[in-house]
Amino acid sequence: MNTPDQKKLLSDVDAFCEELRPIEELCYVEHRYNDQVIPLATKYKLMAMPVPVELGGRGADTVTYACALAHIGREGTGVRTFFSGHTSIGQYPILTWGSEEQKRRYLPAGAKGEKIFAFGLTEPEAGSNPLEMQMTYERKGDHFLLNGVKYLISNAGIATTIVTFAKGSTGRMSAFIVDTDQPGFAKEDLTAKMGMPTANTGMFELTNYQVPADNLLGEEGNGFRIAMGTLVSGRLSVAAGCLGVIEDCLTEVVSYAKERQQHGKPIGKHQLVQEHIAAIEMHRFATEAVVFRAAEAKDASQREPPNAELKSQAELLAAQAKLFASNAAWDAADRSVQIFGGRGWSTLYRPGRHLQDVRVCRIYEGTDEILKLKIAAALLGKDFEAYK
Ligand SMILES: Cc1cc2nc3c(=O)[nH]c(=O)nc-3n(C[C@H](O)[C@H](O)[C@H](O)COP(=O)(O)OP(=O)(O)OC[C@H]3O[C@@H](n4cnc5c(N)ncnc54)[C@H](O)[C@@H]3O)c2cc1C
Repeated sequence: MNTPDQKKLLSDVDAFCEELRPIEELCYVEHRYNDQVIPLATKYKLMAMPVPVELGGRGADTVTYACALAHIGREGTGVRTFFSGHTSIGQYPILTWGSEEQKRRYLPAGAKGEKIFAFGLTEPEAGSNPLEMQMTYERKGDHFLLNGVKYLISNAGIATTIVTFAKGSTGRMSAFIVDTDQPGFAKEDLTAKMGMPTANTGMFELTNYQVPADNLLGEEGNGFRIAMGTLVSGRLSVAAGCLGVIEDCLTEVVSYAKERQQHGKPIGKHQLVQEHIAAIEMHRFATEAVVFRAAEAKDASQREPPNAELKSQAELLAAQAKLFASNAAWDAADRSVQIFGGRGWSTLYRPGRHLQDVRVCRIYEGTDEILKLKIAAALLGKDFEAYK
């Protein structure tokens, strides 16, 4: 991070994290939504980090944004998930496939915290296979009529704007920009979660919901491509956040292992504890490498959009980074809990909270299994796609 703009962004991120940390910890133990994430992110101008400056953002490239998300990930997967939902998969498709008018209408407001974004692909009966979705749309004069339910959507309960996918009569999927303050939109928070109590996860239902024709995102029938393209950005955000989780686990265990005494010496002098610390450090070392390699590949692809080879390389590396980082972070959090012993099992301490929260990273934005199939198919060739 060498340019003044990159350094300033990261110092703003660190100031945000410092101010947020005590609030996040309190919300976590009280098991409630952290309503200070958005005001603080707005205060530090972090609501649109990779969005160009002329649209109100900070113009961060993918590498810088990944670094910012890694720092944010140290504060918890719930905090980072807000940014993934709002920016990496919420603003990103509008920035990438939106018309100039859509970008001007939505992105500057998102940067100011006046609009909050989400990405609505998953449904109760369509998760790993979005092609099985049941939400429908039909054209009715100057608008589209949408009907259906979206489930397990990050930020759904707080969003003003949700990029939503639905199937037309031909069976092809299209993407729409859905404003949540219009008739026909109903939402419900999903609170029975095993982690991320401070973040919002919800579902929403559209009943004869009218989307103005102007809010079709990209070309009609191009929704699947938009969804898959957006997941590259989302997967990178998850991988970067997992790096932050590992970094925070490492900071916590190094300090705890020096302080906590058992059998007459600091537990850090017991070799089996050292083995855990070395394993967490190896996770950090390797995860950092895969995250930034994938981020560089995405930057390279964005510099040359027509280059199909760079694009598929970026897609594959994002999938690999997400699969690797989420499993590494899960293991790092588990080992950290072990080093903290009984305290590790308590959510009063950071390792226990990371363990609960980071588990979801192996599920959302492509499960472990789906990513493995994608990686294998990239090596074997399209004919070997197991989920065809
Ligand atoms: C906290 C949270 C936040 C989320 N946020 C969003 C969001 O913002 N937007 C959004 O659209 N979605 C979101 N999701 C949904 C998430 O992306 C899905 O849960 C995920 O894609 C898996 O879908 P599913 O839950 O329906 O599981 P299923 O698809 O039913 O899978 C169940 C199991 O079967 C396995 N499986 C399925 N198909 C195959 C196959 N062909 N081969 C091998 N194994 C297979 C899966 O890997 C998994 O282990 C979120 C989920 C959670 C938990």
